[in-house]
Amino acid sequence: MFDIHKIRKDFPILSQKIHNKTLVYLDNAATTQKPKCVIDSLVEYYSQYNSNIHRGVHILSQKATEHYERTRDIIKNFINAKNREEIIFTRGTTEAINLVANSYGLNFIKKNDEIIISHLEHHANIVPWQVVCQKTGAKLKVIPINQDGEIIFEEYLKLLNDKTKFVALSHISNALGTVTPIKQFIEKAHEKNIPVLIDAAQSAQHLQLDVQDLDCDFLAVSGHKLYAPTGIGFLYGKKNLLEKMSPYQTGGDMILSVSFEKTIYNELPYKFEAGTHNIADTIAFGTAIEYIENIGLGNISKYENELLEYGTKLLSEINGLKIIGTAKNKASIISFVFDKIHPHDIGTFLDSDGIAVRTGHHCAEPIMKFFDIPATTRASFSFYNTKEEIKKLAEGLKKIVKMFE
Ligand code: PMP
Repeated sequence: MFDIHKIRKDFPILSQKIHNKTLVYLDNAATTQKPKCVIDSLVEYYSQYNSNIHRGVHILSQKATEHYERTRDIIKNFINAKNREEIIFTRGTTEAINLVANSYGLNFIKKNDEIIISHLEHHANIVPWQVVCQKTGAKLKVIPINQDGEIIFEEYLKLLNDKTKFVALSHISNALGTVTPIKQFIEKAHEKNIPVLIDAAQSAQHLQLDVQDLDCDFLAVSGHKLYAPTGIGFLYGKKNLLEKMSPYQTGGDMILSVSFEKTIYNELPYKFEAGTHNIADTIAFGTAIEYIENIGLGNISKYENELLEYGTKLLSEINGLKIIGTAKNKASIISFVFDKIHPHDIGTFLDSDGIAVRTGHHCAEPIMKFFDIPATTRASFSFYNTKEEIKKLAEGLKKIVKMFE
């Protein structure tokens, strides 16, 4: 059952007043708010069993280890991975992509090879591959998009060739909300034995992911966009690929034995988890996923789609407002511009009404360039948002339009 009033009570921050108005938080693509159970899980860890994990024999360390490793199992089931060793904890999507770029890219991509990304990528899925190209002499190929902000599949097929050695694509665009049908992109790459990384920073919270069904080789996720704390996320990687990759960082925990002559690396997943990790946040990440699963991603998608439809209709009716990103399949993200009002002014005026949206290039400058705009205002909805809140957004925008007339 999807009870929005009950759900909203789970998020303490939502009842807060901003400038004397009840907070309307529509910046969920940047980061999501945290349910009380996630906050409680952090407090519980620090007040009851704060301890370092893995090699401790005392009870606190054992409990911390148990809870930490439990999150790995929760994630394994959440994305339907075959093995728990395929889940590597990282700080987030950015670190997960950098891990693959370094440990796979720098080892297996050579001069004149080609790496394919799309025009729809977040900087986090552009810059690491640019660096791989600079260091190896490989070439970066970019799949173009159309005016709706969709990746053009036929252009992708034209780019795929025997020189292609890697494909890295986002599942959902954070700037426009476009959902890319990644399964068909993965299938085509696999016909040529090319591994594919999926940037799922914006999809894990909206869609049920199944890595075995998608058959992606790598998948990168940020916890903080999935109702968990900041500073924790994960990389999923197929075991056979992770096994042949070198460690990303080295030091404690990622070794089996060390002498001055020779170090033997630990087995998966620990080979990729050097040093003391973000233990409390990892444990709370597990709590967040359990919370989401309890509501059900099917229910979440359905409700967020309703919000998207409602918001799109309401905003389209506003004088001078132009929605950027009109893909057929979108997640609950609406980016828009006005001819004569700068997004930063929009954001500032909305803030004075207690409405939080994001303005700027959304770490996706190439998309802004494609649409020939410096920035957009972006409203992004979560399952705890309501139609009333979207109405407040529309009313706030109308007020601003009037003011600028
Ligand atoms: N990719 C996409 C599509 C994103 O939206 C984001 C976050 N805005 C990232 C990557 C980077 O995520 P993080 O900053 O959590 O590492």
